[in-house]
Amino acid sequence: MQSKAPSVLISACLLGDAVRYDGRSKGVDHPAITMWINTHCLVKICPEVSGGLPVPRLPAEIISGGDPESVRSGRIVLHSAAGQHVSEPFLRGAQAALKLAKAHGVCLAVLKEGSPSCGSGYVYNGQFDGGQVSGQGISTTVLRDAGIPVFSEHALDEALVHWQRIASHTL
Ligand code: SF4
Repeated sequence: MQSKAPSVLISACLLGDAVRYDGRSKGVDHPAITMWINTHCLVKICPEVSGGLPVPRLPAEIISGGDPESVRSGRIVLHSAAGQHVSEPFLRGAQAALKLAKAHGVCLAVLKEGSPSCGSGYVYNGQFDGGQVSGQGISTTVLRDAGIPVFSEHALDEALVHWQRIASHTL
């Protein structure tokens, strides 16, 4: 029996799904994506939609700026227009992402940079002024805490090298 290629969790918006807060997508074209599509190993999720948020939705930012310890601590996401805390759907979405990742035994995740759910190197600063700070989104924190490497769409070369290393041991 032929072994299956190791699975990769990916942000749905990076595959062209119009699930972003503004009702748009952020599709990327990269040899890694082509490779993973051809080997049927992509598992896509939009954590915010899985957490129960609609499309479109108000933009949200992490008040504390995405420091992992702050992200773990609870009420950390702000609705821009209404100023409401909206942590719960983000946390639900992160748990849905983790559950899906575990169900498919993913070897890594590629998530959209800058998002309060999916960011892996930076997020917006919680002031809704366009400022960025080093940090990571809620889903990224949950996945990394579970030992799953998370790459952004800007690090697809590195993600592909990581995937190929694991695939070479399983295929
Ligand atoms: Fe894309 Fe993640 Fe935002 Fe969903 S939550 S739109 S997958 S960046």
